Amino acid sequence: PDLLARLNRITSPNELYTGASLIFVENGKPPASGGRVTLAPGQSFLELSASHGLNPWQLSAGNAVSSSASVLPGEVLRLPGEGNTGPSALPGAVESVNITPLPLMQGEAAVITLAADPGLTASGQFGEYPLSFYPYNGEYIAVQGVHAMLEPGLYPLAISGSLPDGTPFGFTQNVFVRADQFVYDVPLTVAEETIDPAVTKPEDQQWKALTAPQTPEKLWDGKWILPSNLFTQAWCLETLECFSSRFGNRRSYNGSDYDFYHTGLDLFGGVGIDILAPAAGEVVFSGFLTVRGNATVINHGWGVYSAYMHQSEMLVKQGDTVVPGQVIGKIGGTGRVQGPHLHWEILVGGIPVDPLDWLAQEYP
Ligand SMILES: [Zn+2]
Repeated sequence: PDLLARLNRITSPNELYTGASLIFVENGKPPASGGRVTLAPGQSFLELSASHGLNPWQLSAGNAVSSSASVLPGEVLRLPGEGNTGPSALPGAVESVNITPLPLMQGEAAVITLAADPGLTASGQFGEYPLSFYPYNGEYIAVQGVHAMLEPGLYPLAISGSLPDGTPFGFTQNVFVRADQFVYDVPLTVAEETIDPAVTKPEDQQWKALTAPQTPEKLWDGKWILPSNLFTQAWCLETLECFSSRFGNRRSYNGSDYDFYHTGLDLFGGVGIDILAPAAGEVVFSGFLTVRGNATVINHGWGVYSAYMHQSEMLVKQGDTVVPGQVIGKIGGTGRVQGPHLHWEILVGGIPVDPLDWLAQEYP
């Protein structure tokens, strides 16, 4: 089972699902070691790998091959050397790697937990997202949002670092990202300047810079609360009727194609209704932006931010710390809106995720 898990880059049986394809080892044929091989015309990279008792990852790892499709017939490839323990071998000091949810979902935060000896340092990469691990309750945890429009499929998760004694370690496994079902909002009509790239691009850049820094202290605790007391959280989660537009909805503005998507949740509410902090954190921005209107951004630590847009009034300023339930502003209709509402956003590692998940479950 160890070898099977390694070949399929599986760290936990939880990753197996009905219909999953697995690579099996052909008996009686020891993996090739050392030497060079060449891709024959008409031969696939997988066939070449399998004919040498290797999986394609093992063959590509030693040859700076980014994609099996990039290998051309006649190209000379180096076989792994003696004593290669495979790319996914976990060092003894790392007991387990746990990834939730599995498979990962578009528009949801991934939580990656390393159970390991104290004193370990680790960082990682999931697809194109860098990962930072923070020590927490005797484990090491990284959180990262998965983009709502990320192409579903397999993405490499690579983790590396050094053990308490300084020994470097590293391993890679593929993780599946599943498609979520997003709906199409009715076409929206908004002020022309709020969809002008000359306005939206610099504002998006400013937004990206605001929500990029990762601070090592986790400021939130447990499930988050609804940022409005116009409804009870239980009713809102049960009926989903307190929102005028869900996270991830595909959008068309002023007759455009549906190439926009909704990066937050829109809560019903008229001008002047209280907006509450859903979790503890520190305010890093409070000000007017053309698209987002009067906007407040709260840093919750570990690269998790929340934001409140289109406010009529902002009641906290940069540097303020907030507690759950604290009134931070009033609902309004400033910025790119058709009418007053609260646009509530949660960003994890710079990527917007569905805030409903943070009301329904604890991260981590
Ligand atoms: Zn919105």
